[in-house]
Amino acid sequence: MSATMKRVLLGALIAVMLAGAFLAAYSITAGRLSGNDVVTPEASATAAPAADVTSADGQTTLPEATSAGETATEPTTAPVTTAPVTTEPRTTAAPTPADTASPTYINGILVVNKSYPLPRDYDPGGLTDECESAFYTMQAAAENEGLDLYIASGFRSYDLQASLYQRYCNADGQAAADTYSARPGHSEHQSGLAIDLNSISSDFAYTEEGRWVAAHCWEYGFILRYPADKVSITGYMYEPWHIRYVGRDVAAAIYQSGLCLEEYLGIDSVYSY
Ligand SMILES: [Zn+2]
Repeated sequence: MSATMKRVLLGALIAVMLAGAFLAAYSITAGRLSGNDVVTPEASATAAPAADVTSADGQTTLPEATSAGETATEPTTAPVTTAPVTTEPRTTAAPTPADTASPTYINGILVVNKSYPLPRDYDPGGLTDECESAFYTMQAAAENEGLDLYIASGFRSYDLQASLYQRYCNADGQAAADTYSARPGHSEHQSGLAIDLNSISSDFAYTEEGRWVAAHCWEYGFILRYPADKVSITGYMYEPWHIRYVGRDVAAAIYQSGLCLEEYLGIDSVYSY
């Protein structure tokens, strides 16, 4: 056999081997993809008659024209997206500062605003004892004056805030939601130190109770957290119903200063993400 002949035969052998390898790889790929695709029709086929299988996979073929088995194999010939189904993110959200934060205390005051989140797992389980008993003392004082104060919303967990915020974003868009609802981890309600009183409405400011709270809540250790003239500093719209427990000394100092909490502590309230 001549050298040229040997080279030709060798070349042919290599070509055959490459073709074989290619076909093997292709059939493995096709098998894997079709394996994903036929899961639903097969699952349906075991529980439903042929007519249901046909509609379940979105094919327009008449039920009479194919058996359940034939329908189940149809998707193997269809072009399949290359995105692997198993790696689709389903429940994992992008990490936020609340995932790494630790609680921020400034001058002994726990700060929760747009700049300072609470960790996701920060959970006092309800209003703190101090905050709750201060509220009941204030409630009794108000009652002595014929006024009815009650808690409309107290402690809210991270998860509850996450679902509330998401609902507001869906309804109004994120920019609007950020003016009146805290992102999860950024709600003061998660601290167990904040209370929404009576009606969550700007009209509360004009009720007897609303006026009394604005004038007297500091005597019981609370501040109006989001005053009307501090919107650009707190980052939230006026909330006459939202009070924050800071203790009597701090509440008195803040009330007398006319400052909001951010000004009093010299901090800002701005999302960094
Ligand atoms: Zn509130």
